[in-house]
Parts: sequence; C-alpha cells; structure tokens
Amino acid sequence: MIKKAVLIILDGVGDRPANELEGKTPLQYANTPNLDKIAKKSTTGLMDPIAPGIRAGSDTSHMNILGYDPYKHYSGRGPFEAAGLDMELEPGDIAFRCNFATVDENMVVKDRRAGRIKEGTHELASALNGMQIEDVQIFVKEGVEHRAALVLRGPGLSPHVSDADPHETGKKVQEVVALEPGAEKTARILNEFVRRSYDILSTHEINREREAQGKLPANILLPRGAGMAPHLKKFEALHEMRGACVVGTPLIRGICKMAGITPIDVPGATGGYDTDMMAKMRAVLDALQEFDFVLVNIKAPDIAGHDSRPRKKVEVIERIDRAVGYLFEHLPDDVVVVITADHSTPCSVGDHSGDPVPVMLYAPDARADEGGFDEISAARGALRIRGSDLMNIIKNASNRAHKFGA
Ligand code: ZN
Ligand code: ZN
Repeated sequence: MIKKAVLIILDGVGDRPANELEGKTPLQYANTPNLDKIAKKSTTGLMDPIAPGIRAGSDTSHMNILGYDPYKHYSGRGPFEAAGLDMELEPGDIAFRCNFATVDENMVVKDRRAGRIKEGTHELASALNGMQIEDVQIFVKEGVEHRAALVLRGPGLSPHVSDADPHETGKKVQEVVALEPGAEKTARILNEFVRRSYDILSTHEINREREAQGKLPANILLPRGAGMAPHLKKFEALHEMRGACVVGTPLIRGICKMAGITPIDVPGATGGYDTDMMAKMRAVLDALQEFDFVLVNIKAPDIAGHDSRPRKKVEVIERIDRAVGYLFEHLPDDVVVVITADHSTPCSVGDHSGDPVPVMLYAPDARADEGGFDEISAARGALRIRGSDLMNIIKNASNRAHKFGA
C-alpha cells in the first residue's frame, strides 16, 4: 500500500554535551516520553545534512534534504528570502535581503534596524518598488519589522557583489563592489539604488511623522546576501508526491515556494520561541488529507542554540515532544514519519556545526532497531546517511520508489 509522509525538521536540535546538563546533550537530558516511544518502533541513526563535517545553513540543508543539490542551485539566501515574502522570481533574477536602517547625512549608520520599525514599512517599500535603473527593473517588498527584500531583473546581472550593509553601527554605508569580473554592472546598479533609496525615504511622509514623534527614520534600505534565483524542478515532478509545508521562517518558506511545495500558513506559528506547535501539528493533520508529503520546520531549538541556552533548548524539546505526541495520537495508519534536524546548533558553539544529527523513520512496518532519538543513542541505530539520501528512504518506506533494473 502506498503511504503518505511527514518530515519533521527540528531546526538545529543537534547539540554537544553541556556541563549545565550533567554532561548530556539537550536531547539526552530532556524528558521526551513520546519521542522515546516512537524511537522504539523506528529505524534510527545519524545523518550528515550535507556531508560529514560540513557546517550546513538552514537553507542549503533543506535544499539537500528535499532533493536539490545546494552546490548546484545555491548562490546566496536572497532569492529564498524574497520568495518567502511571496515576491515573484524568475530564474536569473538577483535578490537580496535588506534592512530598513537609519543613517545620518554622512551615510553613517546610526541604527541598522531603524529603531525596530514596526509600522509604515509597506508604504516605504512601495515608494521604492517598480523603479528602473538603466535597463534593470527593481522590486522591493517589506518583511517583518525592519526586514525587506529586493529583486533586480535585467540582462547581465551577477550575484557576486559585496554588501552595502556595513553590518555595524557607527560605520559608513559601504560602496558595493564586484567580487568577480562581470559583476561591475550589478554593483553600479546597487550603489545607485541605495543612493536613491536614501533620497526617496529621507523625505517620505512616514519618516517625517516618525521624526516628529522622536523616532528614528527608516531613511535607507541596505541590501546584503545577494543570490541568483535558481530554476528548481518542481517537487511533484521530482518525487511524484504533492508537497505542502508548515514552516514559520520566510527563508525555508521561500525554498518551498520555489520548489512548488505549497506553504500552509498557521496563525500563531511565529518561527520563534513562542510558536504554537500544537497549531502546526493540527495543520499537518489537515494537510495530509490533501497532500502526499508534508514538511514541518520547528525553528525554536536553533534559536536556543544560537543563544547558547542549553536549559531553554531542553524546555523547547519537551514542548516539541508533547506536540509530536499529539500528532501521533491522531495520525492515520498509512503515514510514514521522519523526525530529524537540518543541522546541529550546539549551545557551546552558538552557531551551526558540522556534527551529524539524529534521524528516525517511523512506519507501521518499519524495521525497529536498538537506537534512540538523541545524538549518542542514535549511533546504535541502522542508519548512517546524508541529507540527500532522505527522500529516497522516505519514498521506499512509503512504497513509492521505482525499481532500478528488472
Ligand atoms: Zn536550520
Ligand atoms: Zn541557525
């Protein structure tokens, strides 16, 4: 019987032993009755999201796991951030993520987040959207708070340019330069765009009002993280499954959109510590009625890793355990579930590391093994795989794989 599949990515959940946790990892230390029970019925093991020792980003790892070689298709996160904000991208477009920021008249950055501006960014982005410089069309859209995305469309563009954002307050906005021959035009257009953004935004009514209220004006848009929009084969054509995703972060949502995986937006799914995990699991159960494959990303463990807070990570894992328990209580019989991570984010590092992550494959007829769902006991399990193996394993477990040969 053909089955459906759920892939649960616990973002950055992999970790290293912490002194604060009696020398255990957060997954080992946390009280996780549901994950433990599922592990007993699953094939378990360790996964290198990209390859052994490679420190994966969330974007490159998700691409690799979903079947898109990041070494072929990834040139920067800009296009995925833009797609995550529902901007339309064409292959070859160059996209950036941006901040609305505050600069003084000498172009020195006073605040990279324009006083964490919350309102009026739609109007400010609209004032820049649709501009043309030389033969290049320019699109701008606001994101959450001070965030925005920028898309350049035209001939002869390159993603190999430096950032205008100096990444520090008290520094001057940087002149964008070509990082490779052939990128000079893109650098020139971008410098002109940043100058014009200052001219337009510094006199904008929204900023006059902000200044009258004693707030910092959002008087410039600072691009960074250039990337070229790739052409990705549609997920359904690649895997013969109709895909949906329940993800809170624009970056992963954007990858899914570009791959033709339908995003399901869940109110209360914030991509932060306070995300409503139960609401996400209910959305997964709903999506299973219509789709063959549902990807869920839970961002909170990664945030705890970046914040170097092992106890917070334990708390997040225990909340995840309850949400996963709820999912399994209501799970139809014909569903395969994989639970894993996109990379490790050890609290002792405060950033992503190249350590492998635990993975477990649950199916009613899975070959259960001796492993558990943490970094150490998973090594007793049967699997030792790379992220690029995962879709094959899912298709095999759900009886969808094509035979190779006779
Ligand atoms: Zn991640
Ligand atoms: Zn991270």
